[in-house]
Amino acid sequence: MTLLIRDAALVLADRVAPAGYVFIADQRIAAIGEGVPPDALVASAQHILEGTHKVLLPGLVNAHTHLEQTFMRGYSANRSLLDWLKNYIWKLQAAMDAEDVRLATTLGLVEAMRGGATTIIDHHKVPFSRRHTDVVLEAAERLGVRLVLARAWADRGANAESPDAILADLQRLFDEWHGAANGRIHIANGPLVPWRCSAETLRRTTELARKHGAITHCHMNETQAEVAMTLEETGMRPVEWFASLGLLGADFHAVHGVWLSDHEIKLLAEHRATVTHCPAANMILASGVAPVWRLLTTKRTKDANEEQGERDINVALGTDGPASNDGQDMFETMRLAAYLQRATTLDERAMPPRQVIEMATTAGARAAGSPLLRVGDKADLVLLDFDAAHIQPVGDVLASIVYNARGSDVDTLIVDGRVLIQDKRVLGLDEHALIAECRDRARHLARRAGID
Ligand SMILES: [Zn+2]
Repeated sequence: MTLLIRDAALVLADRVAPAGYVFIADQRIAAIGEGVPPDALVASAQHILEGTHKVLLPGLVNAHTHLEQTFMRGYSANRSLLDWLKNYIWKLQAAMDAEDVRLATTLGLVEAMRGGATTIIDHHKVPFSRRHTDVVLEAAERLGVRLVLARAWADRGANAESPDAILADLQRLFDEWHGAANGRIHIANGPLVPWRCSAETLRRTTELARKHGAITHCHMNETQAEVAMTLEETGMRPVEWFASLGLLGADFHAVHGVWLSDHEIKLLAEHRATVTHCPAANMILASGVAPVWRLLTTKRTKDANEEQGERDINVALGTDGPASNDGQDMFETMRLAAYLQRATTLDERAMPPRQVIEMATTAGARAAGSPLLRVGDKADLVLLDFDAAHIQPVGDVLASIVYNARGSDVDTLIVDGRVLIQDKRVLGLDEHALIAECRDRARHLARRAGID
């Protein structure tokens, strides 16, 4: 299949081309150019998308969410993280059967795609049976989106699993799913939080993930109370404890990183780790403000023998689950990330639009192994409709993407060269029927969990 997108503004790695084209062949970007495409390219295109008054950018990476929480929206208002988890989320999660997970995840994926994400890291918290997990992977495979499923686990506290069961299920997922769906599906190790994981199982699961070239993705330093728990138990702060266990590296994701000490920031930089910033969840759950601008400007120590100029801490962006956001719109997430840092650093130079877009694209790509808008890369692209009252007139395309665009402006979404959303419609899916089914199912789930 060949596809030509023409007359769109292009967000390239170093500049914005006001009008240009992208030619896709065999799932990959075969040509990018400014101005009008050559006649030969037009003649060889099986499909042509007109990009007039539209902006083409690399697919966004939603680097942290919990898709099953699509059935748990609206419980986070005026509750602390620990109250919200114990009295609502864990109860609802425990009551979910595989069909609930399938439907919640499908709806969550559709919402995430509509929010601009071509790649989603799903920290999957309900791996109660093989089926509970496989339905998530099957839904992503069917919808055609790129998914990293970080298999969550806890071997301490309520509903703890045995270390052997965790290892066996992770191994099974690596064997059956890692690299599936033409490489669109990846498995990751997903310890839930430091205070619910033992040192030994953290070590063993990270070792297994590394054997498969996979990442380890864990909530870290989200609230002060959690940092205090690890400190009391181990004498170390969470990132320090993980460093002492040998878990940090370029394959490690610290999700949230709100309450980080100077020493922890230094450790993350030395190991070139990723911090996934989820601004909406941090605000809603009153967790605090992650020091994102500091993370982005922190340099490694001199002896760290790495090339110059490369960013030391990779800061990606995530929406977090629909229970603590309460949406999956990556444009909103970009905007909140920019607002929050500018308001708290009092530095008007903080978070320029290019940097924010890089967090949602390039940094996410490094975190999740996603392609970018480059010749030879797999074609994961978003075409935004800029012909809208809340966007026009446009002074600066990048600023308009961060400050004006919304998920509802996603006109076309392409993954692996395949068009998944066109003219703002998700192809191959009866979205209204799905929503109606999910509405009923979520009501029954709340009743079963004893929450009204
Ligand atoms: Zn989370």
